[in-house]
Amino acid sequence: MSESAESTSKDASAGYRVLARSYRPSNFDTLIGQDAMVRTLTNAFESGRLAHAFVLTGVRGVGKTTTARIIARALNCIGPDGKGGPTITPCGVCDMCRSIAEDRLVDVIEMDAASNTGVDNMRELIDGVRYRPVAARYKVYIIDEVHMLSKGAFNALLKTLEEPPAHVKFIFATTEIRKVPVTVLSRCQRFDLRRVDVETLMTYFTSVAEREGAKVEEGAIRLIARSADGSVRDGMSLLDQAIAVGAGEGKLLTEGAVRDMLGLADRARSFDIFELVMGGDAQGAIKTLAEDYAAGADPLILLQDVLDVVHWVTRLKVAPSAADDAMVAELDRVRGKALAEKLSMGELTRAWQMLLKGVREAQAAPAPLQAAEMILIRLAYLTDLPTPADAAKALAGATVSAPNPSAPSRPSGGAGPAPSSSMSSAQSRTTMPQGTTHGAPTAMARAVAPQPHIEAAPQVELRSFADVIELAQTHGEAVLRAELMRAIHLVSFRTGHIEVRLTEGAPRDLPNRISRFLGNVTGARWMVEVAQSGGADTVGEQMDAQVRSKREDVKRHPLVQSILQAFPGAELEQVKQIGPVALPAAFATPAPGPRPDAEPGDDDYGEDNYIDVDPAGDLDL
Ligand SMILES: [Zn+2]
Repeated sequence: MSESAESTSKDASAGYRVLARSYRPSNFDTLIGQDAMVRTLTNAFESGRLAHAFVLTGVRGVGKTTTARIIARALNCIGPDGKGGPTITPCGVCDMCRSIAEDRLVDVIEMDAASNTGVDNMRELIDGVRYRPVAARYKVYIIDEVHMLSKGAFNALLKTLEEPPAHVKFIFATTEIRKVPVTVLSRCQRFDLRRVDVETLMTYFTSVAEREGAKVEEGAIRLIARSADGSVRDGMSLLDQAIAVGAGEGKLLTEGAVRDMLGLADRARSFDIFELVMGGDAQGAIKTLAEDYAAGADPLILLQDVLDVVHWVTRLKVAPSAADDAMVAELDRVRGKALAEKLSMGELTRAWQMLLKGVREAQAAPAPLQAAEMILIRLAYLTDLPTPADAAKALAGATVSAPNPSAPSRPSGGAGPAPSSSMSSAQSRTTMPQGTTHGAPTAMARAVAPQPHIEAAPQVELRSFADVIELAQTHGEAVLRAELMRAIHLVSFRTGHIEVRLTEGAPRDLPNRISRFLGNVTGARWMVEVAQSGGADTVGEQMDAQVRSKREDVKRHPLVQSILQAFPGAELEQVKQIGPVALPAAFATPAPGPRPDAEPGDDDYGEDNYIDVDPAGDLDL
């Protein structure tokens, strides 16, 4: 209906047909990419449960008004023999089908709310509702962009929707369903139309190009499908222009021609820029950018293209088999694979974050080219900075000989924010030296006190409350361990006898459970006595205090300072294990011994602060 998309196309080629219109589907078999919606609609027709009003929602160009017209036919089709009823597969040959297709059935009334927002229009329309259809079974009102109606118009409409005559159906279409009053929505059967995926669009556009007798490179079709961003109509419009521009007289429409038409940079150039930047070559990257700019590319689109490259390479890093997909272009396959092998997940994630932020900055910048340059420079110099893992190592000092925690073996763990993570949290994670999160302290404990007695001694000797906590951990008693740390003020500890004061919210059976647990594990009798007053802060409280002070130390560290400067706006939100945070001295074992060989992952004290109960800790209280 709206011709605005098409009317912007070439004046030089006034004679050619508007593809979007000539290929408009007349039934659900030829409507692409909306299988789910069609299925629901089919069920509604087959069960005979049709509402008086439908609302179709989805982004522009996905087929809402097309669907509305097909529904109008489906409701009114009488079949080739003139005896059929409403059907999800309108015949296309009966009087009704044909006159609807030719826009001449008076009983199907189309209206664009964007241009008819007044109450008067609505009143006029609603006046007509009372009269029976002239020729068709149903009078069908199709109201496009229904969210544009004024409040008064909605109210007028609502009255009719509350008591609609049996011979009337409303079909609303909208791109912004949230702007449609709930009172209206609640009286409608709702159907959501999805963005059509690139593959479906490619298949469709290829077949259209073939039927148009145009020879089009696959890469060209892919570009068009991508640029369409899920909208069939936009894609058809682009295809239309591309064919008019580049594929006359048996000529081949090339990917390059479409690129030029769309103002896109060469994909290979996007790879170039990304490679240069990640190699720390800011000068080379800027030069490439300048050349593309001179050739007419939009800096913002260039940045988005590079962002797209980062996304692709990251995907390959996670799932290398993605490159085997037949739809993937040769260039993406080859260069993507090479980069995925070369770059670490950390580097990719950081590049993604910076570019994402950069695109937003460039959008707002008065001079997008300058903004784009600055982003590339920042990104190039970022490679000089240590990775978060290296930074953490440096912070923890030379004693840490942990296995490389940035190894891609834990892409999801705590390490890699998904590309879709919000900037602030993603960035703060980057600055958070969490590399040593789990592996390092254990390694350190072993390095400091390599005397193994655990393997040799099934007999458990508990010499402090810290030992009890550790024991709970090694036995997989996560809940108990948390309670020991958070719900107990220790009053006194000696073997076989613990005196505690419970926190206010502590479970009342906790002393019993501690006693039972210790009895089971040690084979000896343990008494847990409850005092009403006294006792130290809980272990958790003491560790919180340590973390707070550690966090301040970390913030002041020059390395962290430099990282924070490299990520403007980043904040240190979390501190995960920066060097060993020890149990307070009062709880620590008198004689340092090696900790049992616990799985590092078991240790889940708190969400944010991982504290290793490390008897060899360096904290003096
Ligand atoms: Zn028909």
